[in-house]
Amino acid sequence: MLSYRHAFHAGNHADVLKHCIELSLLDYLNQKDKPWWYVDTHAGAGCYELTKGYAAKNAEYETGIARLWERKDLPPALGRYVELVRSFNPDGKLHFYPGSPLVALQTLREEDRLRLFELHPSDHTLLAENFAEARKKTIIQQTDGFAGLRSVLPPPPRRALVLIDPPFEDKSDYRTVITALQDALKRFATGIYAVWFPHLQRREIAELTAALKTLPCKSWLHAGLNVQTPSADGFGMHGSSMFILNPPWTLHQALQEVLPYLVESLGQDKGAGYVLEQVEN
Ligand code: SAM
Repeated sequence: MLSYRHAFHAGNHADVLKHCIELSLLDYLNQKDKPWWYVDTHAGAGCYELTKGYAAKNAEYETGIARLWERKDLPPALGRYVELVRSFNPDGKLHFYPGSPLVALQTLREEDRLRLFELHPSDHTLLAENFAEARKKTIIQQTDGFAGLRSVLPPPPRRALVLIDPPFEDKSDYRTVITALQDALKRFATGIYAVWFPHLQRREIAELTAALKTLPCKSWLHAGLNVQTPSADGFGMHGSSMFILNPPWTLHQALQEVLPYLVESLGQDKGAGYVLEQVEN
């Protein structure tokens, strides 16, 4: 079953958190003059037009990236991210939003490479179109991203960021994220792994968070953002998290500024808040 289309959610609060952190991680990799790979197990379409089609339907970006668009007081990591989104909107108006693979493409240097997996036929086609000019440095496969991850680890340059961003439409994704990471850490222990997950009123979320914290890595960081009080009927996403294995030491400090700022700018009611935890094993 593949009913999830990311276009409905492009640029929402969860994308802001995810892509700001993704960009910080890639900027960190770029501090060294050594190549890296970026692996995106669930890549999506790559780029989204916000004012038309699916994205315009619920206009989730209006309570996400749009709330940061005119702000002049952004903390550095958010300023860098908004500047990257601006590069897709040269007329200054917010029309286009880059998904995770296009965020990575903007930071790519000569020797760096992208490995992208996207199962949905329509989004795979759109992704391939969006990467038409970056073919030499990118391999895009219409295959299961968890199996795809196994096939690319360890990456030849022994430096990589892996983003795992499944739709969690299928409850088995919660368990598969953990088994995929257990396997990945055996193949490539020093990689940076970033997992996105939604905040929902489901026991699977607490179980996933607890399981992520027990994985055998050097250190982990958990950054969570809630934008509203969980709904009384138990439905809907009230926030999301990025969980990073082997994070760079600079990330915690950057997020100490970013997360309170996002609570203030994207928070919708008194239930807005954040979590920032880091553990060295
Ligand atoms: N990472 C993207 C971004 O931040 O721009 C968004 C990805 S979206 C949350 C999840 C994507 O995974 C959807 O485009 C969906 O079609 C795709 N998908 C679902 N199951 C998959 C699987 N087993 N392997 C690869 N892609 C899958």
